[in-house]
Amino acid sequence: MPMVGPETVDQARLLRLLRDDGPRSRVELVDVLGLPRARFAAEADRLTELGLVEIAGPAASRGGRRSSLLRVGAQVRFGAVLVGDGRLRVALTDGELNLLTRHDEPVDVRLGPEAVVGRTVELLGKLRAEAGLARLTGVGVALPAPVAVRDGTPVSPPALPGWHHFPVRDTLAAELGCPVHVDNDANAMALGERHAGTGRPFDDFLYVKLGDAVGCGLVLGGALYRGAASGAGDIGHLQLTEDGPLCGCGNTGCVEAYCGDAALVRDAVAAGRAGRSTALADR
Ligand SMILES: [Zn+2]
Repeated sequence: MPMVGPETVDQARLLRLLRDDGPRSRVELVDVLGLPRARFAAEADRLTELGLVEIAGPAASRGGRRSSLLRVGAQVRFGAVLVGDGRLRVALTDGELNLLTRHDEPVDVRLGPEAVVGRTVELLGKLRAEAGLARLTGVGVALPAPVAVRDGTPVSPPALPGWHHFPVRDTLAAELGCPVHVDNDANAMALGERHAGTGRPFDDFLYVKLGDAVGCGLVLGGALYRGAASGAGDIGHLQLTEDGPLCGCGNTGCVEAYCGDAALVRDAVAAGRAGRSTALADR
């Protein structure tokens, strides 16, 4: 099955605009992208041939040349996968990332990447079949792990034992026949906030994920910032003090050892037992 994806930076920029902002006129898009008109037409035609973009009708006249509205192709469907907190969540979206259908089930990540990635393929296949789709346009995967984004693999993930360097992206891409992108979950959540949440009006912000694991995603200048080794924002195991509480990673005094879920439960139990909080003691 052919891999279908934007082939140039300009095509990716055009798709991103249509995905994030909805239908826009050709005239407007030429202005925003700052491309020569002929170049824009060639890129838009190529995306139209691939079915990634389509004409949505005539644009409102601005008094000059007639223009048409472009939008993300009606057949574009993305798969979304989130692993974490004991759950495997999969979903399908349209080209503007509106949620169409989802499935959520418990998962034991200690079964290893083959089992979990295999189950992900099954579930996406099932959602795809139910939606009557021959294929997905692309799939995004969020893992509770540092991810070497260029390789599509988790790197020494404390929360995913046995997943180190497992080819998550390539395995899924081969099974599903579409492009796959794998990233750290806090990065994916930061992008989600940028696309449709509280981060939408801001070009620069920090998204902090608190849970079993603590992480954060950095959006700088409107784009995700990963740093040289994809580790930017990986704050969970920054050491605050050497004589702090023991962390799940084996070190002491990490951020996660103070404010991860397990640490909060530990402190709450201690406060209840010591009589420092009757509310906590009651629970
Ligand atoms: Zn740690």
